Amino acid sequence: MKWRPIVIVGLTCAAVAGLVLWLDHARVMGHWLQVHTGTVNEPGPYYGLWSGFGSDLEEFGILGAAAAGIYQLVKKYNCHEPGCWRVGSHPAAGGRFMLCYRHHRDFRGPKPTHEFIERLHREHLERQAAIDSKLHEIHQHLTAKPVANDVHGAGAPAQTAPAAEDHRAG
Ligand SMILES: [Zn+2]
Repeated sequence: MKWRPIVIVGLTCAAVAGLVLWLDHARVMGHWLQVHTGTVNEPGPYYGLWSGFGSDLEEFGILGAAAAGIYQLVKKYNCHEPGCWRVGSHPAAGGRFMLCYRHHRDFRGPKPTHEFIERLHREHLERQAAIDSKLHEIHQHLTAKPVANDVHGAGAPAQTAPAAEDHRAG
């Protein structure tokens, strides 16, 4: 990157120029700073600022941090459908999105009723049972095959191993 050293040199030059100007007008600038921060001329116009509104500037920072925290919490828990302000408590797309009942594809609008929840629960159990039986079937299939292979596998090296040993011995 070529622009980076140029920017650094430019900023350094500006800082040096500012410092030279400041030192050149040290008395004026120092007085300006003292007046505007309220360290001299106490009954002057800046007394009201620094003992009143100005003394609260730090608290605005704290309030801002609290507001940012609340905003992040809202962003985390509200429905991910753009423009929706409901609480999103239903995971969608494998948990990548949290959606409210109105925007979740399983509910499609109305608030889930007792019967609806019962039906979804029953469907879930049936699906789970089907997956379990399929897995069991696959497991049976896989565990049955290596046993058949082992019969041949155990037999074949047993025949060749003594032959190899004989070869080495002989
Ligand atoms: Zn929503």
